[in-house]
Amino acid sequence: MRLVLLGAPGAGKGTQAKKLIEKYGIPQISTGDILRKAVADGTPLGKEAKIIMDKGGLVSDAIVIGLVKERIAQDDCKKGYILDGFPRNTAQAETLDNVLTDMKAPLDVALSVDVDKDDLMKRLTGRRTCKSCQQMYNIYFSPSKKDGVCDKCSGELFQRDDDKEATIKNRLDVYEKATAPLIDYYGRKGILKSVKGVGSIDEIFGKICAMLGS
Ligand code: AMP
Repeated sequence: MRLVLLGAPGAGKGTQAKKLIEKYGIPQISTGDILRKAVADGTPLGKEAKIIMDKGGLVSDAIVIGLVKERIAQDDCKKGYILDGFPRNTAQAETLDNVLTDMKAPLDVALSVDVDKDDLMKRLTGRRTCKSCQQMYNIYFSPSKKDGVCDKCSGELFQRDDDKEATIKNRLDVYEKATAPLIDYYGRKGILKSVKGVGSIDEIFGKICAMLGS
């Protein structure tokens, strides 16, 4: 199954992607994760991307398209994959379609996870990530047992630069303008499925599985 996950930052795409990986045995491809790794590794690409990511803008199409093309050509993507955070605008979506048409392996589903804007703000400003294992928490909805410490590995929890309030406002604006139109884009292609991203993680996952027919 080749699936695109759509939804605003904070809608819970990444969380659902992790559950889909387990269920379907296909990899998650998160352009945000790939870029954050490049930033952490201090590569030239990472240095360039960090300036844009810290402001909540979009990294250039050429960079992210290059990263995704390279990733989906790998062996573990033969059975399918979950694209999380890509495409982010119509140009990326069109390029992806062209690449997949050439590979004779078009997308099966674009799954949109829908959440209200107020809720998104809380989810994003409350988010904390473990420095060691990347496990995510939320100080409002799913706090760690001990303040600032990861339950899983005792690593230190921190707020990502792009989870700070001004950046988040910008990320949500960018989402409205650049990414939300993709919902119509995939609707017109007849592969759109939408789920309300409210309730527990497992409830949402249950709705997604029912929608995917499994
Ligand atoms: P995410 O974790 O998906 O919210 O991504 C974090 C940041 O990485 C975004 O705010 C963008 O700056 C950048 N980014 C991730 N995916 C893309 C993409 N497909 N196109 C452009 N920029 C991206």
